[in-house]
Amino acid sequence: MENRCAIITGGTSGIGKAIALELDKKGYHIIATYVMDLKEEELKNIENEFNNISLIKSNVVEYEGCLSLMKEIKDLNLSIDILVNNAGITKDNLIMRMSPEDFKDVIDVNLIGAFNMIKVVSKVMIKQKYGRILNMASVIGISGNIGQANYAASKGGLIALSKSAARELASRNITVNSIAPGYIMTNMTAVLDEAIKEDIQSKIPLNRLGSVEDVVNAAMFLVDEKTSYITGQTLNVCGGMVM
Ligand code: NAD
Repeated sequence: MENRCAIITGGTSGIGKAIALELDKKGYHIIATYVMDLKEEELKNIENEFNNISLIKSNVVEYEGCLSLMKEIKDLNLSIDILVNNAGITKDNLIMRMSPEDFKDVIDVNLIGAFNMIKVVSKVMIKQKYGRILNMASVIGISGNIGQANYAASKGGLIALSKSAARELASRNITVNSIAPGYIMTNMTAVLDEAIKEDIQSKIPLNRLGSVEDVVNAAMFLVDEKTSYITGQTLNVCGGMVM
């Protein structure tokens, strides 16, 4: 198991970090990418939470950077068993007020970034004849949302990208699935004010916002070696908000 690795983009915070921690417990060497300027001490603190992790600064938007990341992993002599495309951003606004740049920035990270990573990683997975790819979409990519045209388009696109990749890679024993979380308590949703949170909660049949663990549980199922007959699917982890 020691040379089996899982790449988690944006794996130093929130949902990505929680998935990374669980896969670390299962014995995978974790490659967690990040873009923020993390201080040496912050990186050390994250490393100390894991048994086996390489933290690599790499922006999913830059294709050349994704290729360099693959070279670094190759030098570590690791097989790439799992890719979790978790990196994501929001730049919310009504279409009337949303700048074309803000629309493009969100598509770049959430959709093009996932394409870049699938492209470079699938090359290795095809050779191995094994792989699990998991894309972190959102229920907003299914239902749409006021003030999130860019985010909804990126996540809807990500679900469609997953299905196409699932079809292309199926013959090589590589599954590609998506998780569509609803409202999960992380930094991304901490910015919402209490009244909005209460309003959201009232629309969730299970009557609570989700926890990071709720997403981790679904992720562990989809990336498991035994989950070999499920591909091109989207699992909504949203307390029944979208059915
Ligand atoms: P988060 O902000 O903690 O995580 C996002 C991570 O992506 C961060 O670590 C960030 O540094 C990284 N990132 C941003 N741009 C990047 C880039 N260009 N290259 C590499 N990494 C980059 O938020 P989170 O809530 O943990 O979100 C994780 C994923 O789950 C996102 O894709 C998000 O859209 C999705 N999601 C979250 C929720 C929620 O309620 N929190 C709901 C639905 C979907």
